[in-house]
Amino acid sequence: MNYIYDYSLKDLENYFVEKGLKPYKAKQVFKWLYEKRIHDFDLMSDLSKDLIETLKDELCISRLNIVKSQKSKDGTIKFLFELHDGSLIESVLMHFDYGYSACISSQVGCNMGCSFCASGLLKKQRDLQSGEIVLQILMLQEELDKQNLRLGNIVVMGTGEPFDNYDNLMKALAIVNDPFGLAIGSRHISISTCGLVPMIERFAKENVQYNLAVSLHAATDELRNKLMPINKAYNLDKLMSAIKYYSELNNRRITFEYLLLNDVNDREEDAKAIKKLIKGLNAYINLIPYNEVEENEYQSVNDEKALRFYDMLKKEGVAVTLRQKRGTDIDAACGQLRAKEILK
Ligand code: SAH
Repeated sequence: MNYIYDYSLKDLENYFVEKGLKPYKAKQVFKWLYEKRIHDFDLMSDLSKDLIETLKDELCISRLNIVKSQKSKDGTIKFLFELHDGSLIESVLMHFDYGYSACISSQVGCNMGCSFCASGLLKKQRDLQSGEIVLQILMLQEELDKQNLRLGNIVVMGTGEPFDNYDNLMKALAIVNDPFGLAIGSRHISISTCGLVPMIERFAKENVQYNLAVSLHAATDELRNKLMPINKAYNLDKLMSAIKYYSELNNRRITFEYLLLNDVNDREEDAKAIKKLIKGLNAYINLIPYNEVEENEYQSVNDEKALRFYDMLKKEGVAVTLRQKRGTDIDAACGQLRAKEILK
C-alpha cells in the first residue's frame, strides 16, 4: 500500500485524475492533512463516502510511533520515533528567539563515518521515504499545536546525510514548503551536508531557496581527512569548487559549520586556514560546541576557548557566529539517543 504522506500535491492530483476525479480534490485532502492536521480519512467531511472508502483501501495514513520524548531544561524536546518497519529515528524541536525549529533526520543511521559523530556508530540501514521526513515535521508541529504555536524553521541536521537521500528529501521539503502543505518558507529551511560534491552541484541547479550549510570542521585536507572520510573522496579543492559553482548560480549566503574540538581544530593556524579557504565567498562560519559522545575521545572546548577561537576568526576578518548549546542534558547530539536505545 502507498503512504499518503509520500504524495506531493501534484502526485495526489495525478492520483485523482487517474481515477477520473477532479484534481482539486487533492487540495481538499492536503488541507485536511496539513492545515487541519487530521489523520483519519473518515473525518474528511467534504469528501464523498465512496471516495473515503477508496482512500482507505488504497492509501496508508499511519503515523510515526513516539517511542520516547525527552524534554531538556532549555525547552528542547527530543523525539525517538519508530517507523513502520521498526526502525528508529530521532527528531528535535528547539526554541530560539526567532521561533521554533525542527531538526530532522534524513536516513536510518549514516554511512559517512565522521569520527566525532554518534550517528555513524550505526551504519545506514536505509533512506527515509519522503513521507517519513514529512511526518517528523508534521508531528513536531502537532506538539506545538498543543500550545497554539507554529513551527517556523526546519534544519536537516539530524541523523543521516541528506544529499545521500536527495530525491526523497527534495520531495519532502516541497511538501512542507507547499502553500497547501505546511507552508514553511524556503528561506526557513536549511540542509546540512558533509560535502557530497556531485549533489552540491546538482543542488546548485535546483532553483530552490533553501539554505545550504556545509559541515567543514577542518580547513586543511590533512586534518579533514582524519575527521571526515568523505574528504578522501572529495577533498577541499573539489568541495570549494562546488561551493563556488553554487554561489555563482545562487545569490545565497553559505553557512560553514565548524565543530569546536578541543586541541584538534581550535588553534590559531586553524583560524588562518579558514580565512584562506573561504576568502571571497559570501559565507560565514558557525562555530558549534561539541556534544561529547562516550564512544570517542574528542572533547568539547570550554566556553573560554570557544570565545578565543571566535575572536581569532573575527580578527582574521571572517564572518562568524557561535551556536548556543541545546539539549545537552538529553543527549541531543546527532544520533545519540538512537544509538543509546539500540546499543544498550
Ligand atoms: N550529514 C550532514 C547532516 C547531519 S549532521 C552533515 O554532515 O552536515 C549535522 C551537524 O551536526 C554536522 O555539522 C555534524 O558534523 C554535527 N555533529 C555531529 N556530531 C556532533 C556532536 N556530537 N556534537 C555537535 N555537533 C555534531
